[in-house]
Amino acid sequence: MSSDLIQSLQGMSDIDYPEVSDWQRIEQIARHIFSLYFFTEIRTPILERTEVFTRSIGNTTDIVQKEMYTFQDRGGRSLTMRPEGTAGVVRYLATKGQEAGSTRLYYIGPMFRAERPQAGRKRQFHQCGVEMVGEPNPLADAECMALQLHLLEAWGLGGCVLRVNTRGASDELPQVGAKLRECLAQHSDHLCDDCRRRMDQNVFRVLDCKNPDCAKIVEQLPMITDLISPDSREYFEEVIGALDMLGVAYTHSPRLVRGLDYYNHTIWEISHSSLGAQDALAGGGRYTIAAGKKSISGVGFAMGLERVLMALSAGERVSTGESPLRAWLISLGDVARRSNFAMMQMLRSNGVDCCMDMSGRSMKSQMRSANQARAKFVVIRGGDEIERGVCVLKDMKSGEQVELGEDKVLSRLMQA
Ligand code: AMP
Repeated sequence: MSSDLIQSLQGMSDIDYPEVSDWQRIEQIARHIFSLYFFTEIRTPILERTEVFTRSIGNTTDIVQKEMYTFQDRGGRSLTMRPEGTAGVVRYLATKGQEAGSTRLYYIGPMFRAERPQAGRKRQFHQCGVEMVGEPNPLADAECMALQLHLLEAWGLGGCVLRVNTRGASDELPQVGAKLRECLAQHSDHLCDDCRRRMDQNVFRVLDCKNPDCAKIVEQLPMITDLISPDSREYFEEVIGALDMLGVAYTHSPRLVRGLDYYNHTIWEISHSSLGAQDALAGGGRYTIAAGKKSISGVGFAMGLERVLMALSAGERVSTGESPLRAWLISLGDVARRSNFAMMQMLRSNGVDCCMDMSGRSMKSQMRSANQARAKFVVIRGGDEIERGVCVLKDMKSGEQVELGEDKVLSRLMQA
């Protein structure tokens, strides 16, 4: 194979040891926090029919217009690798109907978007998220945000900023959009090309534009809370009240919008200053999605795990420095190698994680392997030790070395 062929695809990475330990740690903490709030896991397929995404995310969004990995299968069906988690979970819930076991679901897994890769932006990235399905309820929205901040805190990620806004109820979106379009019309000559296109296709996205000229115009627009109905305003005030009740710190960002079409009422974003240009750590909101003949309402969020790890490593709080392996067995000679092979199985059966080199290499290279594996202890045996029924146990951190009877090695390592 040429060297190009053994590289992973651009924007898609292998995650190996020791970095993978950080992933396992944040995933484990996430599962624990989700279960505290009575969320159970759902694993939906990575491949779905393309319409699952186009119908829910919206045809005018960047994801659908230019970022999906879509192809035809052998039967000519259009399939897409999931670019986000909500659409698949909602499709699953639609198949379940009334008998859906739980309407509080979480997921952790890879998502795919054909974006231009850069720090914090990948083509295969990972999200963990939750979906809480049910009729709109401000308390549910607040609970969702509180859970998200609880999780960030459990990961050790301080300094996150939660920005909240509302888009109003679904049936008000056209009227809010029309008002925004009317206000923007007088400035259209000064908007960037993208925003002129967005004005027709999805005017909410103009509010999101990073172009400084567009941002200046957006600042002069009315706040969305001024354009929605009194009922929707009241809903939003109740969300804010519930956040206050839970002691969740937030700022109301009156011009915050989110890229996906399915949102209505509450939307939010969490950012972290250490992330630079791609400072969005997570997003969330309330949505209504049509799935088959049903229309499913819920509230949820998604967090980008690559960005969580980037923010954590900016504060150097990820690696616990803990040794991943308790013991490495070192054999001097063939007899010892065979005997260690059996001892390794006995230790593992008793719950002691250990490993050894099986190719009969020199003592020096076996020690090197033990160091590479960051083993806490090495157990050394040669012909002499085998004859006397003993082992040499070396603590790799302190360098302390003791001779122990074979029968004592297990209990000593079990305590380590
Ligand atoms: P979204 O589904 O677009 O609301 O994104 C939710 C979160 O997923 C973002 O705040 C990011 O943390 C993360 N995210 C989205 N797209 C990418 C990407 N291409 N690479 C890495 N993380 C991403």
